[in-house]
Amino acid sequence: MIRLVLVGAAGRMGRAVEAAAVTAGGFEIAARVDTRPDLAGGNGVWSEDVGAVLARGDVVVEFSGPRGARDAAAACAARGAALVSGSTGLAAEDDAALRAAAQQVAVFRASNFSLGVAALRIALRAALEAVPTTWDVEIVERHHRLKKDSPSGTALALADDIGKARSLPGSALRHGRQGAAGPRPAAEVGVHAVRGGSWVGDHLVLLAGEGEWLELRHVAQDRAAFAHGALAAARFVTTAGPGWYTMEDMLRAPGRAAR
Ligand code: NAD
Repeated sequence: MIRLVLVGAAGRMGRAVEAAAVTAGGFEIAARVDTRPDLAGGNGVWSEDVGAVLARGDVVVEFSGPRGARDAAAACAARGAALVSGSTGLAAEDDAALRAAAQQVAVFRASNFSLGVAALRIALRAALEAVPTTWDVEIVERHHRLKKDSPSGTALALADDIGKARSLPGSALRHGRQGAAGPRPAAEVGVHAVRGGSWVGDHLVLLAGEGEWLELRHVAQDRAAFAHGALAAARFVTTAGPGWYTMEDMLRAPGRAAR
């Protein structure tokens, strides 16, 4: 039985992880952490302070926001607990706090825990090798109207993959276009964030040549897709030493913990 401490437990992803843990079996929710002020009467152990309840669990699973990710990283490093972190929109100092924690404990980071997106990234790398470098690449992502960060962490990860495959600088990203934008430069990756309704997560990568184009698309229909990936990551870190782990490490691992 893996004892989880859920940070951001009252949020959409926190609730999805809890529901998935019940379905999957082998997990116990040891404590729930959230800064929402109306949670004191909830079932089980609730706290606003991850440090105060960390001793109850083996692994912290965090879907809260930049501050929650930073605090969880510091608490895990101080008390020797493994961390699975999924918040997006992190600033450089948040990322630095997570990487510092990875010197002491296992830290599993993913801007998208779905296996389908992991497969999309592999397929994209293969497609970029197969088509001429003159083909234009654009990313279109759609998320629900309440999403805080734009573009999504997944869109940025896809853009990073494209930049590496094409040896482009970070400045090659073009976030939307307006006005007299002129002809599209070849060394550009367009990123377009659509917001509305209740879309859980939709990422489309377009590779456009002369008279033809290719579309690679992943649609998350339900947060369960991320939640089950996060639980697989929680299983993975229980046997991992200190370090920084990603979906690729899990997919490459013998026995494929994600299955
Ligand atoms: P949400 O707003 O529904 O939930 C976030 C919860 O975290 C809220 O209940 C909030 O009160 C709580 N919270 C905020 N700051 C906190 C802190 N410092 N400590 C403890 N709790 C805190 O958001 P959501 O849709 O559940 O998404 C949460 C994060 O996860 C976002 O950054 C989102 O982009 C990201 N996300 C990642 C994946 C992935 O696969 N990696 C998938 C979906 C969402």
